[in-house]
Formats: sequence, C-alpha cells, structure tokens
Amino acid sequence: MPDPGESKTAASGDNKLSCFLCGKNGKRVGRETVHALANPGLIEKRGSPSGFFFCASADCEVVYFNGDGTAVRTGEIRSPVFQKDAGPDVPACYCFNHTRRSIAAEIAGTGKSTVLEDIKQKVKAGLCACETRNPQGTCCLGNVGQVVRAALDWLRKAKGVTTS
Ligand SMILES: [Zn+2]
Repeated sequence: MPDPGESKTAASGDNKLSCFLCGKNGKRVGRETVHALANPGLIEKRGSPSGFFFCASADCEVVYFNGDGTAVRTGEIRSPVFQKDAGPDVPACYCFNHTRRSIAAEIAGTGKSTVLEDIKQKVKAGLCACETRNPQGTCCLGNVGQVVRAALDWLRKAKGVTTS
C-alpha cells in the first residue's frame, strides 16, 4: 500500500512554513483546529493574524506556530499529539479513539486489523470531525495506516521467531 501522506512536497509559500524551533516544514492548519484544541483562552490572549501551521516533528515541543513567532506548545493543548507522543494510549484516530494500544491489541488477538475499514465507513457516514479533534487538523488515515503496518510487522516477526 503506498503511503498517502507525503506526496505533496512542491508547494512553497502559503501552505508551508518552517518551524522557528526545529526548522522543519509545518503544514497550514485551520483556525478552527487551533481554537478547538489549544487550552481555553490561550489563542485569544496571543492572537494570530496570519494563521497557524502544525509542526509534526517528533522531538519538537511546538505544536502550532505562525510567522510572527506565536506558538502553542505540547503542554498547552488538550490532547496528546500523535506525532510527538509515542505513548500507547495516544490516539492515532482522534474521532473514533483508536489508540496504538487498541490497534495492536486487535492485531495481536485476531491477526488482522479492521480499523481502517471502520474509519472509512464512519467517514463516509459523515461522522468524523478531524478539523476539531485531530491536532494535525486533517484525516488520520495516514497515521492509522502506519500503526497498523507496524503492528502487522511485529506480528510477522513474532511468528517468525517461534517457528525458527
Ligand atoms: Zn517544530
């Protein structure tokens, strides 16, 4: 399965900006995302005339930043951030609360994962709200796919070890 996440690399300018702390490119994120997830009152206090970008670097504490140096850091938002927190109970899918632990548990128990199908069906039914639940502000399927692949790899290796 090809990775859908990182195909658009060309656009410079408006939709990307490098994070002032780690230097990696961040993607533009909607106002509604930042407002829904930042701690109450934070954005009102700081303001953001030119909008925010999402920093996806694992080691960077900046979650949202904009061109004038305003930032929202990991301790200042309501949810743990999938890309920055490797904990087992961090959601990969924020809308339907599939965590690394729940995804791995299904795969360990049944040898397969129904999570991607489950999410796709619910998205089709209009039940997702990535803009206000997922800190990255966009659909989680890329992240969920990563977790599923990693857990399936783990299972394959675990089986390989027992038969060799
Ligand atoms: Zn950063």
